[in-house]
Amino acid sequence: MFREAIERMAPYTPGEQPRPGQRLIKLNTNENPYPPSPRVRRAIIDSANAAQRLYPPPRSDAFVAAASSLYKIPRGMILAGNGSDELLAMLFRAALGPGDVVAYAMPTYSLYDTLAEIQEARVLAIPLGENYAQPLEALGREQAKLTIVCSPNSPCGTLAPAAELDALARRLEGRLLAIDEAYVDFAESNALHLARRHPNVVVMRTLSKSFSLAGMRLGLLFANPAIIESLLKVKDSYNLNRTAIAAGAAALADAAWMRRNVERVQKTRAQSAIRLRALGFEVPESSSNFLLARMPGRDMAPLASALRRRGILVRHFPKSVFRDALRISVGTPAEMTALFAAMSPLVPKIRKSTPKTDGRDD
Ligand SMILES: *Cc1c(COP(=O)(O)O)cnc(C)c1O
Repeated sequence: MFREAIERMAPYTPGEQPRPGQRLIKLNTNENPYPPSPRVRRAIIDSANAAQRLYPPPRSDAFVAAASSLYKIPRGMILAGNGSDELLAMLFRAALGPGDVVAYAMPTYSLYDTLAEIQEARVLAIPLGENYAQPLEALGREQAKLTIVCSPNSPCGTLAPAAELDALARRLEGRLLAIDEAYVDFAESNALHLARRHPNVVVMRTLSKSFSLAGMRLGLLFANPAIIESLLKVKDSYNLNRTAIAAGAAALADAAWMRRNVERVQKTRAQSAIRLRALGFEVPESSSNFLLARMPGRDMAPLASALRRRGILVRHFPKSVFRDALRISVGTPAEMTALFAAMSPLVPKIRKSTPKTDGRDD
């Protein structure tokens, strides 16, 4: 009953979400462990009024205005999305038809694969370089119709230097370069200015991680007005609801709250990286709110399952080159203490019982 591409494809698998009432320590989908600004709560309550009988403003005006004043970018260069996943879907739909080429690093955010399959686009997946670096040189050579750089990248947390992204944008002149900055508030620098400088650059942000609003579904896209106009053609007319628009505007108006939470996460991230390395994991330097904990050559599925039985969710990617790793979201200090208490006795057992698959020595 459906297009062959849809019949053939595997669905995107999101990380496990606990059932209501299920008490689990959730370190698997990179949510913020701290609550959103109290202003968000007030805005949500205030939005429960008679205006709900009306369709929301199609361009999410109040949310876009708040983004414009926080990021100092004209409104005509900003597009609001129902999560940045929706903005990614719009970008793929508008840019790619059957056989068109989309290029990105591998591994990266796996939703890109799903969106490419829906469009019947051809994927050029380029392996990460030394030290988990993005293969920006190779992406420049490929000249794909759409190039995506997730920075900081998931699942390894590494940041692509803005100067190199600037050079890549120049090399890809006339072709789209999308920079997915879902985690960039946890990093020391960002590449937002490139959306102003280059007519082919799109920068995407989300309020799901740093602003603690994954449940509200809020994303932002920054680009040249001509790009925004094209993306609007594939946008659902009323993609954000009234409550989300109000909540998003309130969150952006209290960026200081977000920054305080980010600082707490960064501090816990540094302490957790040290503890993971002490347990024998290889941990790349993270600019995000998660850590990749790797034991090269050893499948980490058994460790993920053992932690799950102890009520702790972490992410394992069974089909990835990083199946020898866990991606662990940075939680509160208490959550991380519980993680290490569960993990410390398990790690030596896993080392003994899990055969190495790549022939490398410890
Ligand atoms: C979480 C995430 C998104 C999606 O964010 P939403 O706004 O929740 O849809 C996009 N890209 C990357 C790399 C992410 O990790």
